[in-house]
Amino acid sequence: MSLIANIIRPEVLALSAYHVPDSSGFVKLDAMENPYTLSSDLQRALAERLAQVALNRYPVPSYTGLKNAIRQQFGIPENYDVVLGNGSDELISMVSVACAKPGAKVLAPVPGFVMYAMSAHLAGMDFVGVPLCADLTLDKAAMLAAIAEHRPAITYLAYPNNPTGTLFEVADIEAILRAVGDTGIVIVDEAYQPFAQTSFMPRLAEFDNLLVMRTVSKLGLAGIRLGYMSGSKALLDELEKVRPPYNINVLTEAAAEFMLQHVDILDDQAAQLREQRSALAAAMRQLPGVIVFPSAANFLLIRVPQAEQVFANLLKQKILVKNVGKMHALLENCLRITVSTPQENALFLDALSASL
Ligand code: PMP
Repeated sequence: MSLIANIIRPEVLALSAYHVPDSSGFVKLDAMENPYTLSSDLQRALAERLAQVALNRYPVPSYTGLKNAIRQQFGIPENYDVVLGNGSDELISMVSVACAKPGAKVLAPVPGFVMYAMSAHLAGMDFVGVPLCADLTLDKAAMLAAIAEHRPAITYLAYPNNPTGTLFEVADIEAILRAVGDTGIVIVDEAYQPFAQTSFMPRLAEFDNLLVMRTVSKLGLAGIRLGYMSGSKALLDELEKVRPPYNINVLTEAAAEFMLQHVDILDDQAAQLREQRSALAAAMRQLPGVIVFPSAANFLLIRVPQAEQVFANLLKQKILVKNVGKMHALLENCLRITVSTPQENALFLDALSASL
């Protein structure tokens, strides 16, 4: 016991590990994954491509081909580069490592994506959470006051926000970018961009302190772990120094390059999920006592009476959603449901009506 206390940092001792429940046998609606798999033709073509990868070699650390494909397919402005991460989770860690001067702070609206606070703590930085309004929209006045008080080195704005699905107002984000000025960076996290269809990426040149972060996870490639972030060359040059040199493995690199040649398929799936999101929201609004919050992401946040019991009833029917009720006071009695195929959504809806 004293060994652990002697060597492990107090910030780590205080954390609990990111818990991922076992989901085998469940309809899995807890992690914002794309439910669609590849067609067998595409699977075969991908397998052929992966079979040619030289597993004996390290990746070529410049990742030029992959970066060019990302820049072309994902609308990175001309003359802007990207830094790659093993998931955007790794990009979040890299930014913390780069900015963790003694006393430096990380700020984000709460409830928000848990890794912002976790990564700040792991890097020894203070995390300042600014509560959203009761309707889960951004509290602009509170954000601006907290920025003036804390002068955060890093401000995160998930656009749209997880776990609420809220798409913050463009004018509020602009005001935050200006208020932070040259005392911090603002990371607009566009993990759910395929479902929001709006972006700060085209606006990079307007703000020196803006970084736009994205992932291919929600688009349908969560398993390969690939995130990317763009911003000024000066900022990216510094982040490149903390990036582990071979952080994108050769299989991820090859699979991503392959899938980026077929990105229209993933875009079609995102379009189907956006349609399903409207249908599922409308159907849930018909159920007694269910409040559905507006969402621009591939999930819906709902409030139900006695959510703990509803969650347990859903589990009994082999449906796994995310119980976020304990995450933050504003989320009392809330569940987060990933939008899936029409079939899985129907199974969920039946189970939900039976669970209320
Ligand atoms: N940002 C937000 C807002 C998220 O919700 C998530 C995943 N839940 C991530 C980033 C991380 O995505 P990944 O590491 O899969 O790229």
